[in-house]
Amino acid sequence: MKVQIKSVDEKIWNEEIQNLLPSRIFDFHLHTFTSKSFSGGTPDSLKIFGNCSAGAIIEKLIHLFHQKTTEFLFTGWPTSSSLLLQQNQYLAKAAEKYNFYFLALVSHKLDEKYLENLLKSEKRCLGFKPYKCFSVRVDPEDAKISDFLPEKQIEIANQYGLVITLHLSKKKGICDPENIEQLLYFVEKYPHVIWNLAHCGRSYIPHNLEKSINSLSRLKGKKQVFFDTSAVTDREVFVILFSEFGANQILFGSDAPVCFYRGRCVRFGYDWAFITQETHSITASFPVSPALLLYEQLWAMCHAIKVNRIEQKDIDKVFYQNAKEIIDRVNKRRLM
Ligand SMILES: [Zn+2]
Repeated sequence: MKVQIKSVDEKIWNEEIQNLLPSRIFDFHLHTFTSKSFSGGTPDSLKIFGNCSAGAIIEKLIHLFHQKTTEFLFTGWPTSSSLLLQQNQYLAKAAEKYNFYFLALVSHKLDEKYLENLLKSEKRCLGFKPYKCFSVRVDPEDAKISDFLPEKQIEIANQYGLVITLHLSKKKGICDPENIEQLLYFVEKYPHVIWNLAHCGRSYIPHNLEKSINSLSRLKGKKQVFFDTSAVTDREVFVILFSEFGANQILFGSDAPVCFYRGRCVRFGYDWAFITQETHSITASFPVSPALLLYEQLWAMCHAIKVNRIEQKDIDKVFYQNAKEIIDRVNKRRLM
């Protein structure tokens, strides 16, 4: 996928984003893979992204961030044909070469010995990225957390004080009662795990977050629970997140290469769908120029930053400082 800054992107960057973004960006949620990352080569659905090697992704993001200093926490690409060992090996090698951190893809098939060895040999591995498609259940869309994240792996993460980036499954995401119950249980039981709830707790639409706010009140102010902003383009979601949890619990993530699409995530009733130029025909009675999804996300975040009157030092936390502090915490605990 060729990534260009078109006139619509330039206007959004200049008028909506630029003045609020700090000079340093830490991207806490993005992916890299090569054709060797999957059994049977790159899946058809991913071919649209073209070259997704770490070097290619980094180059595109630095271009889109107008050469701002950018640091990364990569992971691989989880799908049913993912070769986890190969992907983790590739992440470790690329992390050395390009000076980034990474989360290992994990499934119930990986034993503790493998994970312990990985953590001991790869200091740039900061934790785990489980995913619903590795669920032991038949239907990953209905998987509860423990279906795709074995408790043994949470124990290891707790022992080493690691990050777990959790993409909640089930139709209701974070407002599913079983997800809430398990999340609260694991957060209490494993206090050294740093939980990153991907995609604002998989709340692409405000409804899911609104409905779960009361149940999640125990997570407010918790230093080990964060929400990453990846692939969310709805302003209201960020308005709620900033006002309820505040900048201390939010981490910027791009979800590259997904953020290279032109389009956004659109709410339809209680559902949502990513409508992009590359995957849909977007027509109206006038010419439509969809912007890069990354800029749609940043615009929505900047809107919430303004509405919630977030101060510059707190903006810096979301885009950089929170991530750096997490890395310091993981590294310190490792040395204990
Ligand atoms: Zn992702």
